[in-house]
Amino acid sequence: MAANKKLLILPGDGIGPEVMAEVSRVIDWLDAKRRVTFEVSEGLVGGASIDAHGTPLTEETMAEAHSVDAVLMGACGGPEWDDLPFEQKPERGLLRLRKEMDLFANLRPAVVFDALADASSLKTEVVRGLDILIIRELTGGIYFGEPRGIEDLPGGGRRGINTQVYTTDEIRRVARVAFELAGKRSNRVCSVEKANVMESGVLWRQEVQALHDEEYPDLELSHMYADNCAMQLVREPKQFDVIVTDNLFGDMLSDEASMLTGSLGMLPSASLGPEDSSGRRKALYEPVHGSAPDITGKGIANPLASVLSFAMALRYSFELDEDAALIEGAVEDVLAAGLRTADIMQPGKERVSTAAMGEAITAAMDGRAG
Ligand code: NAD
Repeated sequence: MAANKKLLILPGDGIGPEVMAEVSRVIDWLDAKRRVTFEVSEGLVGGASIDAHGTPLTEETMAEAHSVDAVLMGACGGPEWDDLPFEQKPERGLLRLRKEMDLFANLRPAVVFDALADASSLKTEVVRGLDILIIRELTGGIYFGEPRGIEDLPGGGRRGINTQVYTTDEIRRVARVAFELAGKRSNRVCSVEKANVMESGVLWRQEVQALHDEEYPDLELSHMYADNCAMQLVREPKQFDVIVTDNLFGDMLSDEASMLTGSLGMLPSASLGPEDSSGRRKALYEPVHGSAPDITGKGIANPLASVLSFAMALRYSFELDEDAALIEGAVEDVLAAGLRTADIMQPGKERVSTAAMGEAITAAMDGRAG
């Protein structure tokens, strides 16, 4: 098969290169065994780019990110660069990628693998089989709205201001992603806001409902206030399939949902941009965790969040659902076989290194692929 699928790998800092090496192992496996061939380029981001080029993201790497089908990132940041001014910090590289690629839809699945169901802080029966997808609007809302700032008040004291603002287009484009993805899952979307106390929430609800009625009448749409959603996520999380919400509520609800699964080292994410005329979306896939400086270089980082992020890339950027499912199934297999990196270690299980976990994943893919 021709190499027409372009990937840019940005391993970044700390454990980023360690976990991304295991993603490369899976990519090589697909190339050899399934003949799914990727054209892979690699670049620097964050502290690694600062050290080499004096900037967290070079123009060349930014241009490369625009030109590929998907960017796979490890993580960036670390104590070496903590004293740099805010504008020059490693994290600015990631923020620039998100901004310039206009990655407005952040997808955070919360999936509980059977073998880890008892690692959740909730009762096993509440989370076993959980598979929900939170879609957070990422480029609008209160984190970006104007006016913003801190001002002095005439009579003394100060006032801090942020503005929650959403337009029809911003709401509809993220709701459209939610409806499209729900159509490939169990056809249910729950839209979350605070329409009871916020005008932006009233507009959010009206626009999501209108888009549903106009274009996705066959899907099931419900609306929920964000505070109730926070409560329902720990009371009965399996009632949800796809949740779509704004930047602020999504920030909190996706963190809350991810903890239902028990471990940071298991959590993938995707961020998608607008569709171009050929139907292609810019996209960046990365684990939710950071660069974990406390365990860097020890060979013990959990690579599964990065491997699962790559599976998301196969599904959302390349429509290779079967290969994505193969990887996810292999993760299920190695966990069921009792293999654990240190962060998810449980009594009676076998502790393995980052590389051994990667090897076990490709061995399990061998087993599944026959
Ligand atoms: P972190 O996610 O790096 O680590 C939090 C804890 O989880 C640590 O104890 C770490 O050892 C553990 N952990 C994280 N990922 C793991 C994995 N794959 N396997 C095993 N254990 C894992 O968060 P932090 O310590 O707050 O931040 C460290 C650095 O990472 C900071 O510079 C921060 O700015 C940066 N950061 C980057 C991103 C990103 O690149 N998207 C996200 C979060 C934090």
